[in-house]
Amino acid sequence: MPSWSISDSDSLYGVSKWGAGYFFIDESGAVSVSPLKDGASIRIADVIAEAKARGLRLPLHIRFQDILQDRVRRINEAFSDAIAESGYTGSYQGVFPVKVNQMREVVETLMDAGAEYDLGIEAGSKPELLLALSLHRDYDRLLICNGYKDAEFMRFALMGRKIGKKVVVVAEKLEEVKALIDVSKALSVRPLIGIRVRLATRGSGKWATSSGDNAKFGLSTVDLLEALALLDGAGMKDCVSLIHFHIGSQIPDIQVVTRSVREGARFYAKLARLGCPIEYVDVGGGLGVDYDGSRSAVPSSANYSLREYANTIVYGIKEICDEEKVPYPTIVSESGRALVAHHSMIAAEAFGRIKKQGVSRIPQIPKNAHKVVRDILEVRDTVEAGRYDEAFHDLVFYRQQANTLFDLGYLDLQSRAIVESASWEIAADIARHFEGQSRASDEIKELVASMKDQYLINFSVFRALPDSWALDQLFPVVPLQRLDAEPTAKGTIVDITCDSDGKIDAFIGDGENDRKFLWLHEIGKEPYYLGFFLTGAYQDTLGDMHNLFGRMDEAHVIVDPDEESGWYIDETIEGDTIREVLEENEYSASELVRSMKQQVEQAIRSDVVKPSEGMKILGEFEAGLKRYTYLDTPERNA
Ligand SMILES: *Cc1c(COP(=O)(O)O)cnc(C)c1O
Repeated sequence: MPSWSISDSDSLYGVSKWGAGYFFIDESGAVSVSPLKDGASIRIADVIAEAKARGLRLPLHIRFQDILQDRVRRINEAFSDAIAESGYTGSYQGVFPVKVNQMREVVETLMDAGAEYDLGIEAGSKPELLLALSLHRDYDRLLICNGYKDAEFMRFALMGRKIGKKVVVVAEKLEEVKALIDVSKALSVRPLIGIRVRLATRGSGKWATSSGDNAKFGLSTVDLLEALALLDGAGMKDCVSLIHFHIGSQIPDIQVVTRSVREGARFYAKLARLGCPIEYVDVGGGLGVDYDGSRSAVPSSANYSLREYANTIVYGIKEICDEEKVPYPTIVSESGRALVAHHSMIAAEAFGRIKKQGVSRIPQIPKNAHKVVRDILEVRDTVEAGRYDEAFHDLVFYRQQANTLFDLGYLDLQSRAIVESASWEIAADIARHFEGQSRASDEIKELVASMKDQYLINFSVFRALPDSWALDQLFPVVPLQRLDAEPTAKGTIVDITCDSDGKIDAFIGDGENDRKFLWLHEIGKEPYYLGFFLTGAYQDTLGDMHNLFGRMDEAHVIVDPDEESGWYIDETIEGDTIREVLEENEYSASELVRSMKQQVEQAIRSDVVKPSEGMKILGEFEAGLKRYTYLDTPERNA
């Protein structure tokens, strides 16, 4: 048999496909990252080692700040190339929608990297607006306000306008236009008004309902005309400076982009012809990330490149403007996911494996074993005779019978142990036979699917990958080491929350079909780390505190040719302590300690524990409040 090579691992895990030039497997079989795609690379295992040396723990959230920089550059260059090639005489300006990742370092890095491209910022709520107002210091950049707004929201926005910022307030509905007129008058400021139009073009993929006639956002054409009349009446028609649409995040199919851009550009052109001096056409977000590397129109992928996306938008708007003989607007896009998804990942340790195959060590069978025990063991003969369907039905029948007998008290523990282990062995044989066969019945398919080993990972899916749980979104998962060796176990992933939903059982496959398991290695003496990739968009703030697992420790990695290793950890952020997650749920740590102290004192008084033991328990409790919420270094079992 030819030995396993790194390229086998690469095709198995698709690293060079979804890695987008940033992630690859190096010659030692370890996942590495080249944040600037320039050859300088960092082995992720080295980052983990360095982070541990600096006192950080796993699970570890790793950010590659240079990837953010690279994404800003690439998106802007895609648009400037498309503009140059098409002869479009307008320009392009991006804005970063902060809802995609509000973390300070992420937003600050993007704002720095975006300086030469006038990358602006988009806010969709009052807290985001206050954040944006303060961070937005360069007035050539845009500050766009989306989302539903009250009068206070508008006042904040217009205060920004008053001090000279290019704040555009995008009206999501007719009432907002009315309110905006009033607030502007009260503050005596000329606003920059954006109108979100409701396109008939529907998105596709998981966020399709952000557009179409039933969407919760945007003005219908009737409302749009009324808004114009209102603005005209108030002498503010010339304040309309932006047309906005956003048909949903992660658009997998470029045809949908084509249709929506043309429809949106047509709105722009018609309004321009009605005398609105609109300067910007804002195409919203939606630029997809190829999470599964298949470059196809499935929800976890996108069937187009960055450049094709930019071309589609630039050429689409140009063509409509040429037809309608209106000026070329400045093109704005609000790509969030495509800017930040790649820069962050999570490393976590697999510390245990719940085996489903090859486990059964059938215990000694006592002479007087119950008949059902012998019946089950005989199913092995049916398997051996190749009658797999029959074996499956018999197995289900006798297994049920055994359960009933146990419930009624007729089966002892030893017999039950034999039944369990023989059942696993037989089920494994049946599953092996039906693996990959489409003609199997649904129950057998279910059995096949359930026969994967479960790898226990010291992290929380709800915290680290909420969209995997909530939306079945696929994220790349790859062992971070040993990729020069063939993985021999089929596994799914289970986390340490006490929730059966805390699992991952769909992985990137061939585009059309997910894979129901991941090939993994045996867990050995060395820690076995898995990497969860492309987690930079939405996961950080959507991640929740289920089971009170808090924020993870974080390491921010910067490329630096002056360093011997070529990189360094710039900043570390300690994750939540137990005390912090408790306090976030309104408990007071000192109250908890006081209550514990009373109980220990009571136990001492009643002579349940010695005073010295009691004090030790109390000391550990108090120290415990400062600890990490995840497992320390769990005992590994292979
Ligand atoms: C969420 C959102 C975005 C970001 O979309 P991505 O697909 O992440 O680029 C942009 N604009 C608006 C109005 C949004 O609500």
